[in-house]
Amino acid sequence: MENEYQYQASKAKYECLLFDLDDTLYPLSSGLSVEVTKNIQEYMRQELGIKENKVAELCVSLYKTYGTTMAGLKAIGYNFDYDDFHSFVHGRLPYDLLKPDPVLRGLLLSLPVRKIFTNSDKAHASRVLHRLGLEDCFEGVISFETLNPADNKDDSEARGQSTNPSTNIFDFDEHIRQPNSDMVLPKTPVVCKPFQDSFEEVFKIVDVDPQNMLFFDDSTRNLLTGKQLGLQTVLVGTSHRTKGVDYALESIHNIKEALPELWETNNNAEGNTYSRNVAIETTVIA
Ligand SMILES: [Mg+2]
Repeated sequence: MENEYQYQASKAKYECLLFDLDDTLYPLSSGLSVEVTKNIQEYMRQELGIKENKVAELCVSLYKTYGTTMAGLKAIGYNFDYDDFHSFVHGRLPYDLLKPDPVLRGLLLSLPVRKIFTNSDKAHASRVLHRLGLEDCFEGVISFETLNPADNKDDSEARGQSTNPSTNIFDFDEHIRQPNSDMVLPKTPVVCKPFQDSFEEVFKIVDVDPQNMLFFDDSTRNLLTGKQLGLQTVLVGTSHRTKGVDYALESIHNIKEALPELWETNNNAEGNTYSRNVAIETTVIA
């Protein structure tokens, strides 16, 4: 049993494996993402007063433009508290849709340094990992709060504001209707995937050359940014490789078939095989 948790540290091809959380460590078919979208749209209606007939399209178009719908809502002028948004959207999720995944757990524990990089908040990450039985499988979780700390100027301003539909909202509908007009898109204060600044922040935190990192995500746009910045990339959820994708896995369970080199060891190395007793070493959720 001990061998299962051993990894040849010498000559490891990657110094860090970076995993997205949602729809990467569990399948899209779990249905959790559908519930997240429903809750985001409910928040837009109920808390921000956005008209019913605008909500679905705005939710998608802001996601496409700003990385997350939340980042987009903030950009176009809605005032709300990040924690309120997260607890509304994630607080009522049916987490029992997720089941313990001992197969994935075994795979992860036999791999080198593993970290999470998610746009979600830390409470959600914690609940998901707990449900999957993976709470001790990661050395760190880089979450929304990591990249958007409360003492950040923009963020602290946002946190100080109660939920209050603003009167000065950028007309995003107009921007969609006339994408080539002179309208200047407002910037968001939120740091998130797929934008370069979020990855650069992660590289600083992890302190590993991106060339020596392997990045798993179900989003091709996230992978594309990662690839442009030097990461090796793994698309999870389909076996079809697209631009910016080095490996493609139908399921995260296929890591071993697609990337056997992760388990290859170099017997000529300095012989410093070591035991990674992750149950002891991890500090999972900040
Ligand atoms: Mg994802």
